[in-house]
Amino acid sequence: MSKPEKITAVKGMNDILPADAPLWELFENTVQSVLKSYGFQKIVTPIVEDTALFARAIGAVTDIVEKEMYSFTDSMNGDALTLRPEGTAGVVRAVIEHNLVYEGPRRLWYQGPMFRHERPQRGRYRQFFQIGAEAVGFAGPDIDAELIMLCRRLWDDLGLENIRLELNSIGDASERQRHRADLIAYFEANEDQLDAEAKRRLHTNPLRILDTKNPAMQELVNKAPKLLDYLEGESVAHFEGVKRILDANNIQYTVNPRLVRGLDYYNRTVFEWVTDELGAQGTVCAGGRYDPLIETFGGKPTPAVGFAMGIERLVELMKLAGEPAVPSLCDVYMVHQGEAAQTQAFILAERIRDAGLDVVLHCATAAGAGSFKSQMKKADGSGAAYAVILGEDEMAKGVAAIKALRGAEGEQQASVPFLEVVDYVVDQIIGCCDHSGEEGHVHHHH
Ligand code: ATP
Ligand code: MG
Repeated sequence: MSKPEKITAVKGMNDILPADAPLWELFENTVQSVLKSYGFQKIVTPIVEDTALFARAIGAVTDIVEKEMYSFTDSMNGDALTLRPEGTAGVVRAVIEHNLVYEGPRRLWYQGPMFRHERPQRGRYRQFFQIGAEAVGFAGPDIDAELIMLCRRLWDDLGLENIRLELNSIGDASERQRHRADLIAYFEANEDQLDAEAKRRLHTNPLRILDTKNPAMQELVNKAPKLLDYLEGESVAHFEGVKRILDANNIQYTVNPRLVRGLDYYNRTVFEWVTDELGAQGTVCAGGRYDPLIETFGGKPTPAVGFAMGIERLVELMKLAGEPAVPSLCDVYMVHQGEAAQTQAFILAERIRDAGLDVVLHCATAAGAGSFKSQMKKADGSGAAYAVILGEDEMAKGVAAIKALRGAEGEQQASVPFLEVVDYVVDQIIGCCDHSGEEGHVHHHH
């Protein structure tokens, strides 16, 4: 037989391996507890939605809808479907479909994989994970400031320094329209300096030209008319309101008049959290207000504001901030030799788990059950505090040999009757360490 060809992951889509999983878990647990501390509720929406949802919610003339969506036809029924490229559209659909704001405003959050057909590079993948929040039914600058402060608290809790806040207001539709006219006139007068993409967007979405990453166009866009100068009464008051609360709470920011966000449905407040530590892909979280969106979907006019953060980029930042301790696999590792010992090992392992501890029972590989020595090596490597050993001698005496491994305190080796094994290891582990009991897992660091 010829060697079968290896199948690899789809380009731009990553495996999160066990070595990285604890860091992801720490990140997710921290975000969830911060979200909870502000009264946010979780919502889970499908990964696949009607293509029309994204086309309408995100806007036709955007990177995402123009060239990044994984769209396909359901061959069973001809439906036009898309793997979600972002989370807001699905949440908004669900809010309308289930009338979630019937009893008043909602603070919602979601998390999960997003899909965009981009050129893969550091910090930019075709499947990536976001955690996002959407505050639906809130109109004032207070909730905008609250979302920003929630992020600030999260960076602090994660121990991430060097994430700065950029803030802007893109006003309301009428203000953008007046700005747009002047912007088009300005770019037309300088058309020779526009690249091909900018020329294409000049009459469809000129605001997006300000967002360009082309270095050759930076000076041109820097001198372009600033949307901030076009804001009137209510928009100005809203922006001032956000800044007042941030100032009162010592949240640092810079106003960046060029910050416009890639998505069409934003109005007023927009913000990005940016770091210089990740190279070109430095935006770790982006958000803003999208008051007009829900009405364009046939819902009752409902103001809303949200943000989404890229988990890969934040986990990468956590890695740069310091290699985290490797958590142990288990509290107890069961070593055994012979069939009777194996039977006894299974029984004891279940009882120790009943008591709330984590147990790994040595199981056979293709090479067999393994010698005592090789099993003890595995026990050492597992990070367990104790090995519970059952050999022929022990079986004959009706006892287990319990050996303290690296990091364990107390007696080094004890001979314990089967019936007392659970109490013994629980005593040793919970007695010796600052053990919460609830978690049932003692972390020893390699
Ligand atoms: P960019 O201008 O860099 O393409 P964007 O405007 O498309 O960003 P958003 O749609 O606002 O990004 O997504 C919010 C966050 O999700 C980003 O700030 C980033 O942290 C993360 N993100 C977006 N696209 C990707 C991707 N392809 N791979 C990894 N993370 C991503
Ligand atoms: Mg993008």
